[in-house]
Amino acid sequence: MGARGEYCFEPVQRGNSADLKIVIQVLVSLEIKMNKNSKVLALKYRPQTFDDLIGQEVVSETIINSIKANKVPNAYLFTGIRGIGKTTIARIVAKALNCSNGFENKCKAKCDACDSITNSNHIDVLEMDAASKTGVDDVRDLIEFSRYGPTSAKYKIFIIDEVHMLSKQAFNALLKTLEEPPEYLKFIFATTEIKKIPITVVSRCQRFDLSRIKSNQLFEFLKKIKEKENGKATDEALKLIVKISEGSVRDALSLLDRGLLSLDNGKELNLNLAQKIFGYFDKSQLIDLFDLILKGKQDKVIENYRKIYDQGVEPKIFINDFLEILYYFKNINLLALESTNFSLNDEEFNKIKEISNNVDSETLILFWQFTIQTLEELDIVSNPHLSMEMFLLRLIHLKGYEAKNEGEIRDNQNNASSQIINKETINQIKNVAQEKKIKPELQIKTNDENKITIKSFSDLLYICSSKKEMKLKYELEKNVNLVKFESGRIEISFNDDLDKDFVKDLSTKLLEWTNQRWIISFSKNQGEMSIKDKEKNNQKELITKAKKSDLYKTILDFFSDAELVEVKHKQKDEE
Ligand SMILES: [Zn+2]
Repeated sequence: MGARGEYCFEPVQRGNSADLKIVIQVLVSLEIKMNKNSKVLALKYRPQTFDDLIGQEVVSETIINSIKANKVPNAYLFTGIRGIGKTTIARIVAKALNCSNGFENKCKAKCDACDSITNSNHIDVLEMDAASKTGVDDVRDLIEFSRYGPTSAKYKIFIIDEVHMLSKQAFNALLKTLEEPPEYLKFIFATTEIKKIPITVVSRCQRFDLSRIKSNQLFEFLKKIKEKENGKATDEALKLIVKISEGSVRDALSLLDRGLLSLDNGKELNLNLAQKIFGYFDKSQLIDLFDLILKGKQDKVIENYRKIYDQGVEPKIFINDFLEILYYFKNINLLALESTNFSLNDEEFNKIKEISNNVDSETLILFWQFTIQTLEELDIVSNPHLSMEMFLLRLIHLKGYEAKNEGEIRDNQNNASSQIINKETINQIKNVAQEKKIKPELQIKTNDENKITIKSFSDLLYICSSKKEMKLKYELEKNVNLVKFESGRIEISFNDDLDKDFVKDLSTKLLEWTNQRWIISFSKNQGEMSIKDKEKNNQKELITKAKKSDLYKTILDFFSDAELVEVKHKQKDEE
């Protein structure tokens, strides 16, 4: 900065176009020089040697060793997320191959070759961005260029960035050279999308998958840069930058840049300011909001949400962060603070831990499903902010119904009422497998020895089951309508499917079980519905009843494609 003063101009004669040209050139180079001095951090701290790289130690070592062993591959392929240093590492490799001081020097003593590679003007190193040059002609030019050996360095090197963008024909043209390149020719490819590169190309490259930079490493790096720049930023603010940049050094540096530049002189970038500058909101706000939802405080929830909204937080960011918080609520007991990648600070971590004791996993899973669904809905609705408010209110209701129903079931257990059905309905939607052991409702009274008293039609069915007379039980349930039942006498009507031996079989068994002769008579009266029909009917009724409940309607709001298929009664004496 203040560089302008360092330059002197020769006096320019008016009207001389040659001089004018010189002036323009001087101004242009001045501009470049200026930019160089006030370079953004990401450029200024762009790694120049393998030693400068952070988080890619294994890759660096492998490459250095292969060069040392004189086993340089024809082509390198670097892949990984954006901003992780693919093109940077490509240039470092080019330098290692072409440095006048030899690769082991790693150009601690700067040489011309390395300098010109850094500035992208080395005569033997050609950089191409496949994002803008995708065609076969571009590749042909490149191949034409490769016909002759290097001018000044050991290798002729092609660096192709975003190589996946090349057209199919371009890849085919490239492939021929890639198969049998001259000794002096090396390729270095970089891509974010390895899957889009033909396998024939990938197989001819030495591939390196660059990993995300670990949070701690990135944090230490930012801290170092901050000190070098004499910037003022708290650790908490730096940690926020680490979190937002998701392992990308470039993103982290440009955020730090933005953060430091936005401050008035002497001010320190603290968490609060950083959140404002980056449009990022405080996790603790979200944790408070979640707590209020659990407590069912509607007004407070909306009030708090609007505060977040006023900070300019986009609904999608909000809901994604909400999901993250849900995840922490669900799993906080399995996590250590360090494993949250600075997503949470100590205070938030402990707060979540405390609140999570009062909320069961089922609720959290239900919330999770519902939140994901809301995320999908956001693309459809025209006013996502209103959707967010509705979303939060619906969560309260979801939680509210659960709590209310739990209570009512406890208070009112003898009543197979709609509340119980509600509870059951929730469980159905939760997909919680409910395996309930049906305990025999009927106690079959046995007289002395083996004699059994059968007092009702259900007794009869039960004894059929227990004596494994399944055929008989099936007939009784399916094809028989009970007209009258008394001890020693059963009056029934039946349908056409009834087995012809039914009466004989039943009489025999009844005599055997009860030591008593039973009269089984057919009636012209229609009798009761068969057990199976009754069950079907019952279920229909229960479903209709459940569908009329407010809860079911609420659930339809949450899961529009939900269908109530079965209603089960909670067992009265269930533990
Ligand atoms: Zn060098």
